[in-house]
Amino acid sequence: MYLNIKKIIALFLALIIITFSFSGCSLADKIYYIIFPDEVTEPVTEITTESTTESTTQITTEPTTHMTTEVTAIPTTEPTIPSTSHKETAEYEEEIKLWAKQDVNVREKPTTESKKLGTLHEGNGVVATAKTSNGWYKVIFEGGEAYIYYSYLTEKEPSRTVFASAEIVDPDTDSWYLLIVNKNKQIPADYVPKLVEVASSGKYLDYRVAPHYNEMYAAAKKDGITLTPYSGYRSYARQQRNYNDLTETYMSRYNLSRADAAAKAATVILPPGTSEHNLGLAMDICNTNSGFANQKEYKWLSEHAHEYGFILRYTAEKQSITGIIPEPWHWRYVGVEHAKAIKDSGLCLEEYVDMLGL
Ligand SMILES: [Zn+2]
Repeated sequence: MYLNIKKIIALFLALIIITFSFSGCSLADKIYYIIFPDEVTEPVTEITTESTTESTTQITTEPTTHMTTEVTAIPTTEPTIPSTSHKETAEYEEEIKLWAKQDVNVREKPTTESKKLGTLHEGNGVVATAKTSNGWYKVIFEGGEAYIYYSYLTEKEPSRTVFASAEIVDPDTDSWYLLIVNKNKQIPADYVPKLVEVASSGKYLDYRVAPHYNEMYAAAKKDGITLTPYSGYRSYARQQRNYNDLTETYMSRYNLSRADAAAKAATVILPPGTSEHNLGLAMDICNTNSGFANQKEYKWLSEHAHEYGFILRYTAEKQSITGIIPEPWHWRYVGVEHAKAIKDSGLCLEEYVDMLGL
């Protein structure tokens, strides 16, 4: 009898664990949300350990699950929070400008149960017109009304460093797809491209480029190749934070002055505004391992990417011109016509643009 009760209890516990493990979050999380159902958290849909480096030294970032799992739109880290009743404040008399403290979801309604309209990226600004009694800012997002939870926004504008030596280039030109950014050519600190998510991945590209990526993604898929978006758009503020963090690490590690440490950091992470990721024109595909050049995804890209307007941007042959080590994962959009011409000519983008006299 005693043994039977133990067995029954064990079976019961096993059933509970199985039930929770199939429900998409851990037992501890589940219990937490049962106890604190009203606690609102609004992280971005997907938290990744993506590499933010644009390296001039070898990158050894370990591959993440992005490599082997198919991209899906299913949020994995955002708990489901029941909507709570709320009142909206009167509209603000003056619009308030707010900035994202980190990448955060933008919602259709003031609850995490509502549709996700997009992501406001770290350091990028938004205009708030009202605030609800349950803590959501009503904001203008892509021309429409949307909501962002207050704790992810700040009224403090992020400081932005403009490098004295760099030339500021205008990203809004007719030939935007041929724009070159590097350590000498920097985009304005407040430039934010209009972004669209690609391949339901939580990664973003410029809205004019995203359809081409999706087309390429679908074509590769038909050939049994998954071109997982690994790192697309990165905000200026995020690039700056990564760059500053590394500068400070070098200051303490090597006992360097800030200027010397910043110069050393620039050999590993491009300063803000000088990366093609800040433009939303480039995607790191699958991972950022030097071994990517031996993978079937790379082989497919080498044969087909130009058909969709993408070029391999940083090659070993052109390192003396680009200043960047070979990056087999970094694919840059230039448009179909130019991608074909660049591939056929063997020139790098700098040489090609020079040749065109742009
Ligand atoms: Zn890249």
